[in-house]
Amino acid sequence: TPIVPVLPDTQVLQRLDAAHFLHPFTDHKALAEKGVRVMVRGDGIYLWDSEGRKVLDAMSGLWCVNVGYGRTSITQAVARQMETLPFYNSFFNTTTIPAVELAAKLARIAPAGFRHVFYTGSGSEANDTNVRMVRRYWDLLGQPERTVIISRHNAYHGSTMAGASLGGMSGMHVQGGLPIPGIVHINQPSYAEHGVGMTPEEFGVHAASWLEERIRELGPDKVAAFIGEPIQGAGGVIIPPVTYWPEVRRICDKYDILLIADEVITGFGRLGKWFASEQFGIRPDLITFAKGVTSGYVPLGGVLVSDKVAGVIVAGGDFNHGFTYSGHPVACAAALENIRIIEEEKLLEQVAHDTAPYLKARFASLAAHPLVGTAESCGFVAGLNLVRRKAGNVHYQVKFDPGLGVGMICRAHMFDNGVIMRAVGDRMIIAPPLIMTRPQIDELIG
Ligand code: PLP
Repeated sequence: TPIVPVLPDTQVLQRLDAAHFLHPFTDHKALAEKGVRVMVRGDGIYLWDSEGRKVLDAMSGLWCVNVGYGRTSITQAVARQMETLPFYNSFFNTTTIPAVELAAKLARIAPAGFRHVFYTGSGSEANDTNVRMVRRYWDLLGQPERTVIISRHNAYHGSTMAGASLGGMSGMHVQGGLPIPGIVHINQPSYAEHGVGMTPEEFGVHAASWLEERIRELGPDKVAAFIGEPIQGAGGVIIPPVTYWPEVRRICDKYDILLIADEVITGFGRLGKWFASEQFGIRPDLITFAKGVTSGYVPLGGVLVSDKVAGVIVAGGDFNHGFTYSGHPVACAAALENIRIIEEEKLLEQVAHDTAPYLKARFASLAAHPLVGTAESCGFVAGLNLVRRKAGNVHYQVKFDPGLGVGMICRAHMFDNGVIMRAVGDRMIIAPPLIMTRPQIDELIG
């Protein structure tokens, strides 16, 4: 059988794309020269482009297609919901069946003490929701001056004004007047960058102390919350030492500061549990989610709200915030089926006990390559550093600009040769679908 029954005309699509489509995070001049690649079909961990070329998608789209491509049970669930009720809102004393069922389901799989969800259309909107919710929380508790949110350099929390401000991407901050007031950044817990002379465990505690320093500088009575990704994803897959998050939690408790875990990447099984918060002992007050909740089949995001925060928000009456697509019934139907698949196929157990340990060993073996410095993974995310010279671990310069780094050369080479990876400066990243098997891991590493 042909891969795509009728292949579209790639050149026509490329011309139309260049003429009309402004892509996200893209150097349009460079794209117009090279010509865009048109993806047309997916199945399992593979994609096919408009010229019939097959690629292994080691990035799960954008860290989201956790159950892989081509799941007809999700498309059927979506079609059924579209036929029954394609849209209704949850604003004015109404709700829909999938939105309720998903809320109850999320409460069952969330860490203990989380029984409420606020739906959004994306991870960015969910982080905007966090900003408003934590400020509303402190206002209701009679401490309206607690407004500052502490985040980390090189973090990624989205592309809306608040999301990009929470994020610590300098390349984003230099455009469009960011960050907005009331958001400050501390360093990320990157052992490679800042851990000289310390064990990883010592460094984890040390990196958390930067939070305490900043809280004291600002005055604890001004600080509303701290936000962080359990593992920094778009910033380069920075895996913190095990001591980092428990120490962050201790500091937040000490100063009565809310802790937000942005699990947009790490949620829904990427590290072998429903949420990385359980794995790293984070005990957050709010959890941001998106991506893996529907495996990206339909856009959906949200905030899981702990009983501590929900109690105050609910008792406070009005929370004047929400989106037309908060709790979109079609997206919620997709999420319910996606979660059912993860459970039925025991993907969390498979990742935690079989394929992630296997990937870890195989990925680490890449460190023997003459152009690779370090190669490490956690669950189903992994990153390696390209080095100019292995002896002395001589690095290329790390640059945010995706057009400039040596990683982009590597990425283009891999893409042309059948594997999708992501590049962050000189760091190469993967986050494969959770369904990836051992033979497929061998294929990828090969
Ligand atoms: N938070 C994290 C940790 C992310 O990785 C992302 C997207 O990559 C977002 C938030 C923003 O999500 P979205 O692109 O759905 O707005």
